[in-house]
Amino acid sequence: MAEKNYYKVLGVKAKFTQDELKKKYRDLAKKHHPDANKGSKKAEEYFKIISLAYETLKDQKKRRDYDLKQSYSTRSERTSPGSSPRGGNRSSSKDGFRNPYGFRSSQGQRPEDPFTNPFTTEEQAFDPNMPIRGMDLHFMVDIPFKTVVLGGHIKYSYEKYVNCDNCKGTGSSAGEECSVCDGKRQVVIQTSIEAKIPPGVADQYPIRIEKKGGEGKNGGPPGDLFLKVQTKKHPTFKRVKEDIYAEVKIDAKLAQTGGEIEVETLDSTKKIYLEEDTLTGEEYRIPGLGAAIQWGKKRGDFIVKFMVVNG
Ligand SMILES: [Zn+2]
Repeated sequence: MAEKNYYKVLGVKAKFTQDELKKKYRDLAKKHHPDANKGSKKAEEYFKIISLAYETLKDQKKRRDYDLKQSYSTRSERTSPGSSPRGGNRSSSKDGFRNPYGFRSSQGQRPEDPFTNPFTTEEQAFDPNMPIRGMDLHFMVDIPFKTVVLGGHIKYSYEKYVNCDNCKGTGSSAGEECSVCDGKRQVVIQTSIEAKIPPGVADQYPIRIEKKGGEGKNGGPPGDLFLKVQTKKHPTFKRVKEDIYAEVKIDAKLAQTGGEIEVETLDSTKKIYLEEDTLTGEEYRIPGLGAAIQWGKKRGDFIVKFMVVNG
């Protein structure tokens, strides 16, 4: 059975709600249920495809795998006249996370395409040897607090498609379908990268690493890798734009008399002088020890917030 476009089968666009999906599926399932079609073989087959499409698209993980697979098997832009918008997806990948799964809405279906016949194998119209750029990959990555605010490096492991070694990305070896990639020309590998985290990068910022996405097919260029910053919580520090806040407990007696205390900062520790009669909520600002700004040229402030405790 040839691969079907599940979005087309169910008549949904790339962006759909679970409710929409469920409704489309129910309508179709009712119409094509084998019981309602006197056991027609075709209806049965069709019903199976509808069910499979629904099972796949409603599940986030399955959908992601499907999209990934589809982008390899069907992402060849056709060159027929009037289809230019389909080729225009390249630039959309630059704006990052509209498309967290690297799914391209242009692949395989135009949103305005009416639901026609799911048995159409549109893929056959594509030139399988056309060079195709590799996939852009988007991942959300948990990054330690200090690495985000001061910059640094992280090691990140991920999976990507690369050309099959066995068939050199041709899909066949010794005149037969390659048994390693099943003729798909590419295989998934686990890889890792040391990524530079720019100092003071904003939370949720997509860091772009060129050419570290999926390998291109048929000599096409590789895609890019985007790592979206998810700042890990720090047990005592909080970031407010370029400033770092730290709550520090001080003994009531010391708060009354004042004196020198040592506080932990982002970099190391710092001795600061506590004034007499310090109250809970009072702050001590240390300039230049906050988060990096202007990509590391400057830094914000480090602000100690006192909390007076008895004991
Ligand atoms: Zn192969």
